[in-house]
Amino acid sequence: MLEQPLPKEFDGFPNIYTNRTKVQNFCYEYAKSIGVEFTFNARVNEYFEEGDKAGIILNGEKLTADFVISADGVHSKGRAYVTGVADKAQKSGFAVYRCWFPISKIADHPLTKYIAESKKDMFAIWIAEDTHAILTTNVNLQTCTVFATHKDYSDIAESWHLKGDVKEMERAVEGWDPKLIQLVKSIPEDGLIDHKLLWRDPVKKWVSDKGRVCVVGDAAHPHLPTSGTGGASAIEDGATIAALLENTEDVPLALRSYIALRYERTALTQRMGWETRHRWHQTDWEGVANNPAFLKLPQPVWLNGHDAEQYAYDNFDAVTANVLKQAPFTSTNVPEGHVHEDWTIATMMSAEGEKAEAGFYVVNND
Ligand SMILES: Cc1cc2nc3c(=O)[nH]c(=O)nc-3n(C[C@H](O)[C@H](O)[C@H](O)COP(=O)(O)OP(=O)(O)OC[C@H]3O[C@@H](n4cnc5c(N)ncnc54)[C@H](O)[C@@H]3O)c2cc1C
Repeated sequence: MLEQPLPKEFDGFPNIYTNRTKVQNFCYEYAKSIGVEFTFNARVNEYFEEGDKAGIILNGEKLTADFVISADGVHSKGRAYVTGVADKAQKSGFAVYRCWFPISKIADHPLTKYIAESKKDMFAIWIAEDTHAILTTNVNLQTCTVFATHKDYSDIAESWHLKGDVKEMERAVEGWDPKLIQLVKSIPEDGLIDHKLLWRDPVKKWVSDKGRVCVVGDAAHPHLPTSGTGGASAIEDGATIAALLENTEDVPLALRSYIALRYERTALTQRMGWETRHRWHQTDWEGVANNPAFLKLPQPVWLNGHDAEQYAYDNFDAVTANVLKQAPFTSTNVPEGHVHEDWTIATMMSAEGEKAEAGFYVVNND
């Protein structure tokens, strides 16, 4: 219905569709090569700050450092320490079936053979009321992923990460495009996850009062998958903190400046994830008839062409001066002319299941 060519580059940098395990492994190997030490299979039980040090209790052992970055995801303990509020992640109303498997699994069926034989990576999206499904393929890695959202009626206390049942996923896409149904039938029985989609209100407090413990990534700003940028935001947070600390030894100043550089951008990209989902789930078909681009997956240059490290270097003087004066900082890592307005999950969920009023979407995806 709508073809959206995926850009080959953003602002001079190649745009590569890859596999997150590989990206994680590259980062891990690089970190090891520069001397970073890792401890696996260990839980952080507590955070603390004493004088000009901060630390954690890890499996009963006290570890102390100049500061602590808590990157512990949507259920973050670090967030509770930093904000002083032990609130829980909230339901977004949906869960997602997700899987990743060798493309050879779909190579023999006449409906899906052409996908396996394609020499180009594919990215296909199916939308319908209250649901969407996504296929991506990676020719170099000879793999594909298939996602399908479904309504989440379970309790928040239940596990957010369950083994998925392929038969249930088949029921979720019943009556849809035969190609999608066949893709779902090809999913290996043990390869499916049913993942509860959770999020939290944007909060501005990402750094503790004493200034030596901060949260990054989903712990600070959980994104819905339809933003396509939650992982990238976590990486940008890390790059920002590193760049700020290259220029100052004042850790609390650097971490408070990190919030000033990042908050408005991530509040917007969090909201963008909900808006994209809403455009697909409560589609304004009259609007689409006039402007098919309404359904596009947002891939703007302000988002994907952004260099968070350079932005931190360029804005170091201005942002630290404003933080010291407690003056607001004007973000330029957002769309030109964008004026930040605070929002909450309650605001978004009040429009769930309804068509959006004119002017409700703040991210222009065209
Ligand atoms: C279906 C789906 C599709 C997505 N697609 C994209 C995409 O296309 N692009 C994109 O950029 N993002 C995408 N995302 C979002 C992305 O996965 C997240 O934003 C990203 O993983 C957040 O990284 P993080 O390091 O902050 O948190 P996580 O990846 O959640 O990592 C947190 C880690 O902390 C560990 N941990 C938690 N508590 C403790 C503790 N007490 N002690 C020790 N360790 C602890 C956890 O075990 C986990 O390993 C998608 C998400 C989903 C669900």
